[in-house]
Amino acid sequence: MRWKEMELAGWGRALKSTAAVARPERRSALAGAAAPAIGNRRSYGDAALNGGGKVIDMTRLDRVLELEAATGLLRVEAGARIGELAQLLAPRGWLPAVMPGTGFATVGGCIAMDVHGKNHHGAGSFGMHLAEIELIVGGEARPIGPDDPLWRATIGGLGQTGIITAATLRLIPAKGRTMRVREQRVEGWDEHIALLDSSDASYTVGWIDATATGARLGRGILEEGEISDASLPPAGRSRKVPLDAPGFALSSPVVRVFNAAYYARVPAQGRTVTRAQADFFFPLDRIHDWNRLYGKRGFHQFQCVVPPAQKDALRDMLRAIAQSGLASPLAVLKRMGPGRAGMLSFPMEGYTLAVDFPNRAAARSLIAALEDLAIAAEGRIYFAKDSLAGAAQVRAMYPELADWQAAVSAADPDRALETDIVRRLRLRDPA
Ligand SMILES: Cc1cc2nc3c(=O)[nH]c(=O)nc-3n(C[C@H](O)[C@H](O)[C@H](O)COP(=O)(O)OP(=O)(O)OC[C@H]3O[C@@H](n4cnc5c(N)ncnc54)[C@H](O)[C@@H]3O)c2cc1C
Repeated sequence: MRWKEMELAGWGRALKSTAAVARPERRSALAGAAAPAIGNRRSYGDAALNGGGKVIDMTRLDRVLELEAATGLLRVEAGARIGELAQLLAPRGWLPAVMPGTGFATVGGCIAMDVHGKNHHGAGSFGMHLAEIELIVGGEARPIGPDDPLWRATIGGLGQTGIITAATLRLIPAKGRTMRVREQRVEGWDEHIALLDSSDASYTVGWIDATATGARLGRGILEEGEISDASLPPAGRSRKVPLDAPGFALSSPVVRVFNAAYYARVPAQGRTVTRAQADFFFPLDRIHDWNRLYGKRGFHQFQCVVPPAQKDALRDMLRAIAQSGLASPLAVLKRMGPGRAGMLSFPMEGYTLAVDFPNRAAARSLIAALEDLAIAAEGRIYFAKDSLAGAAQVRAMYPELADWQAAVSAADPDRALETDIVRRLRLRDPA
C-alpha cells in the first residue's frame, strides 16, 4: 500500500492530527496490514484519527458483493456508504435495518460504533442486524459470526479488534422509496417525553429548541415516520457551504431567531407530509460541508443517554444549555430501546439528547458539566460524538470495559490499532 502524510480532522473540526494515510482499492491489499481502519470520518472527535501513526481509509472498498433478493441478505465491502446502499436497495424492496443521521457513514464505521437510528426503540442497534463480519486479525482475514469471542468486542469496538473488510447485513423490507411523516409541535418538556413514550411509529425523533426557557423548556417538533410507497416530485439540488462561516453565523440571537422560525414552520395543528427517504433519514446531508458553518475553530457535539427513571437529568441539562446561550439549532431528543450488540455499544434503554456547540472555552466548560450530570444519572456519552471527555469519566459509563480490553489485547497485542480517542480516554489501559 502507498502512504501519504495528511492532516485529518474529525467531523467537528476541533480535533486534528497528521497521519500517513493509505487508500487501498482491493481487499487483497490489506493482507498483513496492522493499522487502524477509518471510514468517512463522520465521527465528530478523534475516533478516526491517529496522530503520528498510520490509518487505512476504507472508502474505496465500497462494492456490493452479493444481494440475496429473496431473503434480504446483503454482503458488502466495509467502505460502502449507508446512504448509497439505501438508495440502491429501496427500489428493490429493502433498506438497511438501522441508519444513523448521515448517509455518509460507512458500513465499517456503523459497525465500529454500533450506530443507532430513529428506529432504535423498536429495531435496536446496527450490530443486531449483522449476520457476519469479515475481519483482519493478526494480518489475516477471517469471517466471524455471533458465536465468535471477538463478535461483541468488534461491534461498537472502535476498530480495535481488527480491520473490518466486509459484512453481511440483514435488511428490512421496504414497501417504497419515500416516507410518510407526521410532524407536530411540542410545547414543552413533559409533553415531549409523553409523546415519545406513546408513539407507536417505526421511526421517531424530537427536534428541540435548545434556546427555549421557562414553561417552553424542551419545546420542539416531534417527527414520526413510516416507510411509504407514495410518489414525490423530483428533489431540488443539494447545497454546499463554500467557506468557513464567520463567528456570528451561529451566535445566540441568530440561533434564537432561526429556532423560532423552525418551530413555527409546522402549523399548530400539525401536518402529515411525504418526504424522500434521504431527506428524512439524513436531513443535513443535503448541505455539503455544513460543519464549516461553525467557522475555523469547529464545534463539539455532546450526546448522552440516561435510563428512563433519570429522564429529568436531561431536563436539567437543557436548562443549563438554554441559560448558557451557547446552543446551536441542532438539538435532538430520542427514545432508545435496550438493544445493543457490543461491549462498548452506546445505546441503553432510556432517552438520548444530542446538542452541538461552537468550540469555545465556555462551551467546553458547559460540556464538562453536562458529562458530570450524565454520570450522576447513570448514563453514558457516545464515543462517536465525544471530543472532550476524560478517561476517568468514561470508565464509570462502560461496565464491560475490562472484558473488551481483554478481547482487544488478545486480538491486537502490539496496540497497532490504537487511535487518538483510545489514547485520550485510555480505553485500552487496565484500571
Ligand atoms: C450529521 C451526523 C449525524 C449522525 N447521526 C448519528 C445517529 O443518528 N446515530 C449514530 O449512532 N451516529 C450518528 N452519527 C455518527 C456516525 O454515524 C458515526 O460516527 C459513524 O461511525 C461514522 O461512520 P464513518 O464511516 O464516517 O466512520 P469514522 O468516523 O471514519 O470511524 C469511526 C470509527 O470506526 C472505525 N472504523 C471505521 N471503518 C472501519 C473498518 N472498516 N474496520 C474497523 N474499524 C473501522 C474507526 O477506526 C473509528 O473508530 C452522525 C454523524 C453525523 C456527522
